[in-house]
Amino acid sequence: LKVLIPKEMGAETRVAGSPDTVRALAKRQLLCVVEKGAGTASGFSDEQYSAAGAELASPQDSAVWAEANLLLTVGPLQLEQPKLSAGALVVGQLAPHGNENLLQLLQGQKLSAISLELLPRISRAQSMDVLSSQANIAGYKAVLLAAAALDRYMPMLMTAAGTVQPAKVLVIGAGVAGLQAVATARRLGAVVKVSDVRPAAREQVESLGARFIEPPVQGVPGEQGGYAKEATAAFLEAQRQGLAEQLTDIDMVICTAQVPGRPAPLLLTKEITELLRPGAVVVDLAVAQGGNCELSQVGENINHKGVLVIGADRLPATVPHHASSLYARNVAALLEVVISKTGELNLDPEDPLLDPCLVSLAGALRRTDLVPNWK
Ligand code: NAD
Repeated sequence: LKVLIPKEMGAETRVAGSPDTVRALAKRQLLCVVEKGAGTASGFSDEQYSAAGAELASPQDSAVWAEANLLLTVGPLQLEQPKLSAGALVVGQLAPHGNENLLQLLQGQKLSAISLELLPRISRAQSMDVLSSQANIAGYKAVLLAAAALDRYMPMLMTAAGTVQPAKVLVIGAGVAGLQAVATARRLGAVVKVSDVRPAAREQVESLGARFIEPPVQGVPGEQGGYAKEATAAFLEAQRQGLAEQLTDIDMVICTAQVPGRPAPLLLTKEITELLRPGAVVVDLAVAQGGNCELSQVGENINHKGVLVIGADRLPATVPHHASSLYARNVAALLEVVISKTGELNLDPEDPLLDPCLVSLAGALRRTDLVPNWK
């Protein structure tokens, strides 16, 4: 099988294969073709890929794409990319929710596709979980960004000039990104409070030395596959009131609350955000899903009455070396499942690991439910 690792499009700095994973795939008799410069932004040189056993190709070479059996990507497929041949498999974060273009492309070119965002959260898939490996980075970097922008220290300090109180941080959402934000803020010496709606989050939050804010009692949203379900409007209103009471002495808010395939819960309205003191910093990691903060805008830093609101949608790409290394390992772990010992593609839709994330099998669409009104 020929595995193509392209140079990603646009501003993406990550790459779906590292020299280490290329070496591992080469041992399994797979030929990796890496587009020149694909790893440069992640600190992987063309020479390192060659030394690991890869062939190098010019970016976007249609002959190379037509010969590939497997395309490993970070970002979604783009219409302007060269065509793959019928039956080829695409593995990547394909952003399938509401993505009509993706389904048309997969059907039109008769491709198979695994969308890594849809991997089930079962123990067998843990090593392949790109959402976790990338969200961990986002949570870590969000706190560093906010700390760098903050007008005060994070830790408590006792100095000859007097005592400095530790910064007070609120983390909204205690999933993978949120828990890493808690851990990072704690390491920097901050006092941390956390809001989540899943009861399981309490113990995780407390084990990191943070305080769990009780959600409203009535109408707590259920869970499905480890994820929170969407909350009702009444529950969110009650939750907003509870959070508003917590905000007056908060220096930093890290927003990570999300519900898969749905808009992120709006928890910091404009009025509630205005309760923060001037100089406070909000980092909204849910901004691409509409945001937890009404004021956040994708990719923008907005100063609202002295409160800095950072709409941070691409933080993993700002730590490209480790983001790519971990992503590449996740992908390589998945390939252990989809490539047989004899080196053939083996896409079993009955496999509970593949069933939810195999969006298309040789052009036969399996997840049209993700695109409302798909005809
Ligand atoms: P996510 O990005 O979908 O959501 C982030 C967090 O937001 C979740 O903790 C969710 O409960 C929370 N949230 C949703 N609505 C909220 C609201 N109104 N207020 C406050 N918080 C709200 O989730 P994620 O981080 O990808 O993962 C969620 C959980 O899944 C993890 O914490 C973990 O327990 C589990 N998980 C399991 C595995 C596995 O078993 N393989 C792997 C990764 C994660």
